[in-house]
Amino acid sequence: MSILTQKDFETVIGLEVHLQFSTRTKIFCGCENAFGKEPNTCVCPVCLGLPGTLPVLNKSALDSAIKTALALNCTVNSYIKFDRKNYYYPDLPKGYQISQFDFPIGHDGYLDILVNGNPKRIRIHRAHIEEDAGKLIHDNAEGCSLVDYNRTGTPLMEIVTEPDLRSPQEAYDYLTALKLALQYLDVSDCDMEKGSLRCDANISLRRAGETRLGTKTELKNMNSFKAVKAALEFEEMRQFRVLATGGTIVQETRLWNEDKQATFTMRTKEEAHDYRYFPEPDLVPFIVEDAEIERIRLTLPENPQAKCQRLQKDYGLSDYDATIIVQDRHLADFFEHCAKHSGKIKKIANWIIGPLLKELKDRRCSVKDLSLKPEQFVLLVEKVENGDLSNLAGKDILITLLEDGSKTVEDLIEKSGLSQVSDDALLESIADETLKEHADVVTQIKNGNHGAVGFLIGQAMKKSQGKGNPKKIKDIIQRRLFNA
Ligand code: ADP
Ligand code: ZN
Ligand code: MG
Repeated sequence: MSILTQKDFETVIGLEVHLQFSTRTKIFCGCENAFGKEPNTCVCPVCLGLPGTLPVLNKSALDSAIKTALALNCTVNSYIKFDRKNYYYPDLPKGYQISQFDFPIGHDGYLDILVNGNPKRIRIHRAHIEEDAGKLIHDNAEGCSLVDYNRTGTPLMEIVTEPDLRSPQEAYDYLTALKLALQYLDVSDCDMEKGSLRCDANISLRRAGETRLGTKTELKNMNSFKAVKAALEFEEMRQFRVLATGGTIVQETRLWNEDKQATFTMRTKEEAHDYRYFPEPDLVPFIVEDAEIERIRLTLPENPQAKCQRLQKDYGLSDYDATIIVQDRHLADFFEHCAKHSGKIKKIANWIIGPLLKELKDRRCSVKDLSLKPEQFVLLVEKVENGDLSNLAGKDILITLLEDGSKTVEDLIEKSGLSQVSDDALLESIADETLKEHADVVTQIKNGNHGAVGFLIGQAMKKSQGKGNPKKIKDIIQRRLFNA
């Protein structure tokens, strides 16, 4: 008997992503849809599931769902129908979740991603709308569990892929690309820490060359993309060990334990729910007009991949620069604004990717949250490029511009005296004084010790109190030493 290695197996992964829409109100009632509020303050008889109440569909949630389905290249079902998914859990006060069963709002879409730099199309099986459940808080100190119903009735979209992913890394790449595409739509904050974006992962192994799918396990409870990847890696290895030693995989749901970096059985297929789906009688099916779907299609932004290609074509950006800039839609808009005001596009890109992005990261915010004006940013970069400002002074001014939108570059230069001295006559006299004071060094240089030129430049800079344009000082000193 030959020994099986990991190369003898192919990994197959399909992901189910839940996306919370950031609509003003919940999906079937008028309660505020907000994160982080005092528990059980955003609730009403409808989302608490009290008898006799009736749901009313939030139009804005429907629009977000259609927009998302279109962005994922799905066919949109214009026949809107809801179904009840029945199960009991304390975070679900009605005893059922309103979801979509046989007519998901979107189906048969795809998302194109890059895998090791090569394009790959990941098919989207379906994308449907449903309501979120409440949140259980396990209070160990009190030895009890508490329920917060604020989240109950938050509009959700579940986005399910075909089993097209072939490694934990590919799953990670898909999630990253999906998140970026969703962020561009502006329908959700896509924040995994807040639970606005959540992912369950399905994985199976099969012998290389086999076309039938192997038995899968479903992994839950991962709260970052890194955790999704780690859970899949753990599970890939666990399944390999079982299969390579002649065992069989049990179809089950497993929970990721972040502390132990391992998955553990939660429930097996025998314990799996029969949800007894049936049409929701309180929401009558209806048709969305084609014209309405087309109206929403027109609101779709340029997608990040298309933007990345276009920035390279229109502005001559490198693939690397363009890829970084499109990671934030508002940063890309900002770049384009600047590029229209300046001929120094490469320098602008460098300042965006370098100092500006660093400041944004430190503040954990996007350029749209700050008051920086593109015209001022362009002016700043050009002043540094012309030598009117040192790099360091430029960065200081950038920080002030980020904090206070009423300031201009000119004001700031004047007030702080940060302006670099570029006055030729003044710099020449500073250089001449420096050479006179260090006549011994000048002699050494003339005798061939060229390494000492730097010392003289440093001394001249010091004499100018750090405000001399270093390039000009260097030029003058070199001219005096070698051309005179
Ligand atoms: P379930 O009935 O358990 O919900 P579905 O058929 O609805 O399973 O699929 C859920 C997700 O699991 C989808 O993303 C799908 O692509 C993926 N999936 C289904 N079968 C497999 C398999 N054998 N291996 C890996 N992923 C799978
Ligand atoms: Zn409510
Ligand atoms: Mg399913």
